[in-house]
Amino acid sequence: MKQYKMWIEGKWVNAESGKTYQELNPATEEIIAEVPLGGKAEVDKAVTAARKAFPQWSKRPQAERSQIAMKIAARMQENARDLGEIDTLEHGTPTKTAATSVAITSQRFEWAAYNARSLMGHTVPSDPNELVYLQREPIGVVAIITPWNVPLAMVVGKLAPALTLGNTCVIKPPSINSLTSLKLAELLETVGLPPGTVNIITGPGGVVGEDLASHRGVDMVGFTGSCETGKMIMSLASQTVKRLQLELGGKNPVIILDDADIDTAVADLITGQFRNSGQICGSPGRYYIHEKVYHEFLEKYETAAQKLVVGNPRDESTQMGPLVSAEHRNRVESYIKSAIDEGAKIILGGKRPNKPPMDKGFWVMPTIITNVAQNMKISREEIFGPVACFMEPFNSDEKVLEMANDNVFGLTSYVWTNDRARGMRFANEIQSGTVQIGHSAGSGPELPWGGYKESGIGKEGSIYNLYEYTNLKRIQVDLTALTK
Ligand code: NDP
Repeated sequence: MKQYKMWIEGKWVNAESGKTYQELNPATEEIIAEVPLGGKAEVDKAVTAARKAFPQWSKRPQAERSQIAMKIAARMQENARDLGEIDTLEHGTPTKTAATSVAITSQRFEWAAYNARSLMGHTVPSDPNELVYLQREPIGVVAIITPWNVPLAMVVGKLAPALTLGNTCVIKPPSINSLTSLKLAELLETVGLPPGTVNIITGPGGVVGEDLASHRGVDMVGFTGSCETGKMIMSLASQTVKRLQLELGGKNPVIILDDADIDTAVADLITGQFRNSGQICGSPGRYYIHEKVYHEFLEKYETAAQKLVVGNPRDESTQMGPLVSAEHRNRVESYIKSAIDEGAKIILGGKRPNKPPMDKGFWVMPTIITNVAQNMKISREEIFGPVACFMEPFNSDEKVLEMANDNVFGLTSYVWTNDRARGMRFANEIQSGTVQIGHSAGSGPELPWGGYKESGIGKEGSIYNLYEYTNLKRIQVDLTALTK
């Protein structure tokens, strides 16, 4: 078992209290690491270090900061295999996809590096006797608090824009799987960042996360996680009116219209649903299928789901690994139980595999539930597991739109039709930050991602995200005074 340390002001440190906690391999339940249990003392040190580093880092020419961001991307690519192995070990990501996903994640730094260099201001033609110009400036100390579901990508999605644009950062990674973030810190150590520019504190959200969200020395919180925690962070951050970027949950509708290409839709959605064992905020959450194609879709979907290879994430053939923890597995199982109690039907899975080597670890087999009604718990809440919920078939476009929008979340949605104009009419009416017509593929750094309603505030990715991590200043010069 390896012992880890936190990274504060460029130094590797234990918790002042001397306390630690252990991380498990979710596929085997073996203890893999001992990690410091940080607390208030570490938050104070890290925030002080980040404040101290801010004047120097924020005044560096953008070209220099962008070069450092490019170096970080290069280090990540050089170490993609190691980072991918840690991801497999602490999260259960199948080896087949882990290293590739690190390489894709590194592009967030490349994209931020290029685009921060052309983050131009504007002049405003307000009065001919005045020069009014707008410039973007870094905000200050950004606290980055992230979830366990794609541990490295969640940190990098916020760190890349925040750091590249001149902010200094304090990262609180998820407790369950913080090792990829600590490995990232090892890479950051080699790129020439002034001490304290980035700090990483491991420790419980209820202590470290809350303290960061309420700390006077923190100017902004970038958070991804559950809606419940997001609301708590909003409330804590309100005490000092911090800037917030929140990426929260989703219960994403999938609408299959009667003219959709069913084979293509099934192949795409099976991948989208069971990738990362369904632990993705953008996973399909509710399937609304037109009555004319319902049986065909369901039959083909079930056949494809039965073929998914579930097992040891280290095997090259594995498509789906374990869930992240016993606690999360129990939570997913409690949703399946609630579906049965409320009258829905489990037509596939719903159980643990219980055969070696999966008698150890935290598994739930790919599950399909049908006869799901709009008011059931599994139709309203995020399951975050390998569970596909099939609603009653529909026969009216208006009715299905109403049902799709009838949820507190508004993260993303999927529409399948061969009539693009019909698809675009749906896109105009659906209340979500993203609508994907004819596919469910992931997003690149140039694309904005972020929810409507209780799915969050602000965008990750794209130029809009760069705006999130800067302040906009108006400078107004009286030209008549200059000419006198
Ligand atoms: P949580 O909200 O439980 O935790 C997220 C982070 O917040 C963790 O680092 C956690 O620390 C910390 N935290 C926990 N309690 C507090 C608190 N009281 N104050 C401050 N910080 C706290 O989410 P999960 O980790 O369970 O992640 C799953 C959720 O994330 C799902 O709802 C999912 O939809 C959402 N998500 C959204 C995405 C999006 O883009 N919209 C993307 C990915 C996930 P600790 O680990 O120590 O508990």
